[in-house]
Amino acid sequence: MPQATTTRSGRMQPAGSRLIKFFFGEELPFVSHGRGVFVYDTDGRRYLDGCSGAVTANLGHSDPEILRALHEQAERITFAHRGTFHSEQSEALAERLGAMTGYPYVFLCNSGSEAVETALRLTLQYWRERGEPNRSQFASHAVSYHGATLGGLSLSGHPQRRRVAEALLHEFNELTPPYAYRFAEGRDDAEFTELLVNHTAEVLDAHGPAAAGVVVEPVGGAAGGAITPPDGYLQALAGLCRERGLPLIADEVMTGMGRTGMMLASQHWDVRPDLVVLGKGMGAGYAPVSAVLVSEEIIDAIAAGTASVTNGHTYGGNPLGSAVALAVLEAIESRGLVANAAERGKQLRAGLEALARRHEVIGEVRGLGLLQGLELVSDRVARSPGAPIGSLTRAATFAARDQGLLVYPATGGINNAILVAPPLTVTAEEIDLLLELLDASFTSLTSEESTLL
Ligand code: PMP
Repeated sequence: MPQATTTRSGRMQPAGSRLIKFFFGEELPFVSHGRGVFVYDTDGRRYLDGCSGAVTANLGHSDPEILRALHEQAERITFAHRGTFHSEQSEALAERLGAMTGYPYVFLCNSGSEAVETALRLTLQYWRERGEPNRSQFASHAVSYHGATLGGLSLSGHPQRRRVAEALLHEFNELTPPYAYRFAEGRDDAEFTELLVNHTAEVLDAHGPAAAGVVVEPVGGAAGGAITPPDGYLQALAGLCRERGLPLIADEVMTGMGRTGMMLASQHWDVRPDLVVLGKGMGAGYAPVSAVLVSEEIIDAIAAGTASVTNGHTYGGNPLGSAVALAVLEAIESRGLVANAAERGKQLRAGLEALARRHEVIGEVRGLGLLQGLELVSDRVARSPGAPIGSLTRAATFAARDQGLLVYPATGGINNAILVAPPLTVTAEEIDLLLELLDASFTSLTSEESTLL
């Protein structure tokens, strides 16, 4: 048996550990338990979960109602395959989700990546049934993240994540990102929107009869950090897709389920994409569950053809995940959590802007509702991200953790950013505490990590 080892940070690594670690590896504490917006490690340290554990635990931790739903379902039946049985839980989930988002059809999966992949496959199937099987070129943004599967990575403008798989990927990520801080170059919102739309039109023209659809995160998440488009952009993009008869696919894995202060972020701009991808907050960390919302037009074409969806994953639509997601939806509705996200989001935003006035390292505050991002720079005037890329993000994430605050590192390969995205259940007092801890983190960052700045 291998011996227990001590890591650089002085932590014991258990003997016999064969687990492949993720991210910042050895420096991570071991998790013990969670209550509400707080998470505790095995040394008894408390952390305010300022990022809902990768923007997923939208209801906080150990929510009694969700745990009850989970237990009740687990005692009845945990797994039945949808090829063998229909399940009342997944029917009820689809109906509720459809009613809360305005979509007639729902396809259930387990992870965001699977759901993105499914949206691509549904679109390909749509074109095949319409007699245009050669339409296979998707367009997505040059700073974006859409998942770890080959389709999702092909869409992703995220050099760091793409690197190893590059040989198998498509270059779908050609569109100029709606990321004014780095791409507007002095243009106002209207001018920048025009530039974005013209560029999108050029890319679609270049794809010609191979163009299949456009994929967009209404507010960017993991890559770049809460990249918020200029008002008018999403409408213009939807208009362009409509003109050309191309499906618009919104990847709302991070932004959906009320996170931005609307059930879907695309609703901020009155846009109804043809397909919407949901994940993370659907199971809210209590079960892996995700979905694709599908419009009439896409389903009608598929129904007129093969009349079945030729894509599936074994655990997709299982009764346990469905019961959990249904309980999550009920909690969102009965507790008014979408409105709370909007309200607490305003408080958080005002607090972050105040922090930006005190800490030079914050180049920009952006986002919607409880999905806020801070762009981190080593020089505010030059907007330089510092070198190497990622080091400021990493330093800020560690500084926050040292203060007992969890934030999400979001670097797109060209910048440094963190996401501040506490659970939708967060209270006004907890936001105040979050801001205090973040303030202390930035103070310690600038003193201890001054070589980075
Ligand atoms: N799309 C977006 C917008 C995401 O933020 C993520 C996850 N960060 C994914 C897709 C992939 O989801 P998952 O990690 O659950 O596969």
